[in-house]
Amino acid sequence: MALIVQKFGGTSVADVEHIQAVAARVKAEVDNGNQVAVTVSAMAGVTNQLVNYVEQTGKLYDTAEYDVVVSSGEQVTSGLLALALQNMGVPARSWLGWQLPVKTNSAHAKARIEGIEADKILASINKGEVAVVAGFQGLGVDGRITTLGRGGTDTSGVALAAALGAERCDIYTDVDGVYTTDPRIVAKARKLDKITYEEMLEMASVGAKVLQTRSVEVAMKHGVRIQVRSSFSQDEGTLVVNEDEIVEQELISGIAYSRDEAKITLIGVADKPGIAARIFGPLADANINVDMIVQNVSADPAHVATDLTFTVTKADLERAVETVKAHAKDLGYKQLLSDPDVVKISVIGVGMRSHAGIAQRMFQSLADKGINIQVISTSEIKVSVLIAEEYAELALRSLHTTYGLDGE
Ligand code: ASP
Ligand code: MG
Repeated sequence: MALIVQKFGGTSVADVEHIQAVAARVKAEVDNGNQVAVTVSAMAGVTNQLVNYVEQTGKLYDTAEYDVVVSSGEQVTSGLLALALQNMGVPARSWLGWQLPVKTNSAHAKARIEGIEADKILASINKGEVAVVAGFQGLGVDGRITTLGRGGTDTSGVALAAALGAERCDIYTDVDGVYTTDPRIVAKARKLDKITYEEMLEMASVGAKVLQTRSVEVAMKHGVRIQVRSSFSQDEGTLVVNEDEIVEQELISGIAYSRDEAKITLIGVADKPGIAARIFGPLADANINVDMIVQNVSADPAHVATDLTFTVTKADLERAVETVKAHAKDLGYKQLLSDPDVVKISVIGVGMRSHAGIAQRMFQSLADKGINIQVISTSEIKVSVLIAEEYAELALRSLHTTYGLDGE
């Protein structure tokens, strides 16, 4: 007998009929002789509606009250799933975040789980009940309801699996696994059987929106095995696991992209110590996240001036430009250029650690298609390039072929 945590997303619990189908899936696991804890999202669209209600009250709202409102969607689905299970003859009990409790910090609207008290829910499970936990919500140190950020039920599921010492956390969603790249763009994209935590973190953070990034961090920290699978088919999904569980590691596991990038170039920045700090300091103070950065050494023998390029999210572009302009005098650049029409493409794979030439193949593949690379950045398991947005699809397809990822 194993203890398994199952997480069902919004499209899987979109209405009562879907919730009954979910209950049947849970029952199948119980009939297999397993103990089950389930965590559910709100019905599809409900959280957006609740956020919208809050925004109608005014642009600047108290996030503690935002949490009271937006956490309510999960209360409804947890109760309905417990009822659906009971109607199938499966003993079940719902649990809200404060009842366990799921302890979080008090960063309302984006709280982090600090620990889950498992005694009560384990007692219920050991009595033979399925525990249905409302996802996305917790109890802050201020004694009030918190929520974990959009997509947070993934993290509820993984944290629950860690607290219960579960065998696995199955994340049921509307895609059947993690793909080598976005199958809507590259028809030859393949579903991966396994991917490492580290690769998944890179895939998640560069825009493959399958799992909330935080959930993968928690899984990696506690060694929780995740399976991403579809609630609409019986197919096996993708396992997100430790590197040592993957026997034949591919060189490159996936190619991710993010359209949420915008580029700022400062022409003629003084080439002297302290300038980068003077530019990025005010951006950090304005809470603007800078992603990629390139700075050239000046070709000028007197080392007077150079160019500096960096990227921010599209939403932050205007504020970033304003922030830099506000410090124009201090920085002494000649010209500021901004460009929102860029996309970041990243090739990801732990195999990169032990193989040379991966980046070179990427550059060659893009060059063969006549695609100009504007910015490059690398990490231990990732090479990213910034290119013009119009070439995104062409680049994804040709890289997918270059690294031998194409399926039939
Ligand atoms: N219902 C929440 C949201 O839409 C949490 C989740 O679905 O994971 O963000
Ligand atoms: Mg989600």
